[in-house]
Amino acid sequence: MIRREKARDTIRHHTTGIRWRIFLCLVLFVLMVLMTLWFFQIRMLGYFYEREKYDELEIVSEDLISHLEMEHFDDRVDLTAKEKNICVCVFRIEGSTATAVADADANSNCVVHHLSAELLSNLYDNAKKNGGTYDKRMQFVKNDEPGEDDFYVPGMHDPSKAVNVLFVRLVTVEGREYLLVLDSMLSPIRTIISTLQVQFSWIVMLLLVATVVMAFAISRLIVVPLTSITQKAGELAAGNYEVSFEGFGYREVEELADTLNFAAREISATDNLQKELIANISHDLRTPLTMIKGYSELMRDLPGENNAENAQIIIDETTRLSELVSDLLDLSKLQAGTKKPECDVFDLEALVRDTMERYEALIRHEGYRISFEGEGPAPVLADRTMILQVIYNLINNAVNYTGESKCVRVTLSQAEGRVRFAVADDGEGIPPEQINEIWDRYYRVDKVHKRAVMGTGLGLSIVKSVLEAHHAAYGVESAVGVGSVFWFELPLQQPNEN
Ligand code: ADP
Repeated sequence: MIRREKARDTIRHHTTGIRWRIFLCLVLFVLMVLMTLWFFQIRMLGYFYEREKYDELEIVSEDLISHLEMEHFDDRVDLTAKEKNICVCVFRIEGSTATAVADADANSNCVVHHLSAELLSNLYDNAKKNGGTYDKRMQFVKNDEPGEDDFYVPGMHDPSKAVNVLFVRLVTVEGREYLLVLDSMLSPIRTIISTLQVQFSWIVMLLLVATVVMAFAISRLIVVPLTSITQKAGELAAGNYEVSFEGFGYREVEELADTLNFAAREISATDNLQKELIANISHDLRTPLTMIKGYSELMRDLPGENNAENAQIIIDETTRLSELVSDLLDLSKLQAGTKKPECDVFDLEALVRDTMERYEALIRHEGYRISFEGEGPAPVLADRTMILQVIYNLINNAVNYTGESKCVRVTLSQAEGRVRFAVADDGEGIPPEQINEIWDRYYRVDKVHKRAVMGTGLGLSIVKSVLEAHHAAYGVESAVGVGSVFWFELPLQQPNEN
């Protein structure tokens, strides 16, 4: 419990919550969108509008150039000027003289029809320098002084007034040089921009409010199920394995809840197993200890009981106790992976034959019939001591569970480069629904504590761990009332292999 409390204390509280993260992300996103809108819709509006005008004038000039030497060219110029609401003046250049060959105006404040000779020559020079085209922004300024001319100034003189954009094209058609001057008015866009700015401030405010509401709603959707899961996880950490996680809202949370429910079931099962294991181990350690204590006291208190038979019981129980302890140790080492097989090539058949000799006493004194059939030398690469432990465990189990017939058959057969060790008995067999459980430590088919008589209850767990450490195939075939066959297989080593 202390460890659990400590673990909970280490939960960090300083990282930003989902709610704030979502809010910040949304605000950043909205700001980015607004800035982009502001840049293109407000800041660059004038520029884009002007570029559009220049492009339009260029297209018109191309069209007019293609009709330059044709009949009714001035009609074409008139029509185009009206259609596009622009002013056009076409000059033929001969030496230093410019003669207007066509002109059309669509508005009275155009530059084209108030061109001074100086400005015209300036436009001509610039177009020539620039490879035939030249564009310029100009503003018409009305001169209020009596007797003074109105004039044109390049660029933007008065921001509240309309601006003219000039597009100049210099071409040579059939040896004659022409200068086309096109002029279009830019409508004053200051009012448009200020309207847009007001709209924009409203959009900013509305979007920010919407962002707060959305961030709150989205984070609620995410946070509520997570908070409930966190609270339940806390209960699980505090030892309540009955807790049930409910995922709702979206798939990821449902998956998380399913995984946590599975983890809770597994933790609960492991916890039960651990408790059962401790109970079994304590019981098994206590049984021989009680016997040892009882017989030692008997021998101490009653001199008549101080005989070899009672001493033998004490020795047998001590042996059982030390077997149990060393089995437990072996098993934990194998399962923790600290004990690894030390493999050597040895003859499995010779090992089984040697082992069989140790059952001679059982055969002779207790009437067991233990047979062995092999098919000649069977070299395998394995840990000899561990495999001997497996063989012992399997034969001991067969002897213990064979029943009245007292018959056990051990075989070693070879096929497809493998040797198969099998031990069969005519005992009570194992019910099919329990056949997978018997490999778990301390599993008992009949739940009757036979181990005090028969074994440590860890035999098959050790067999399983050893064979899995060797990557060997193993199994059991059993029928209730008929008997069981426990087997394992190892690859045969060719003489030149090691
Ligand atoms: P133990 O034999 O000490 O109880 P094991 O791990 O060797 O422990 O075996 C686990 C269980 O598997 C046994 O309690 C028994 O129920 C069953 N079992 C093992 N071998 C046999 C067998 N040859 N015939 C029938 N049941 C067996």
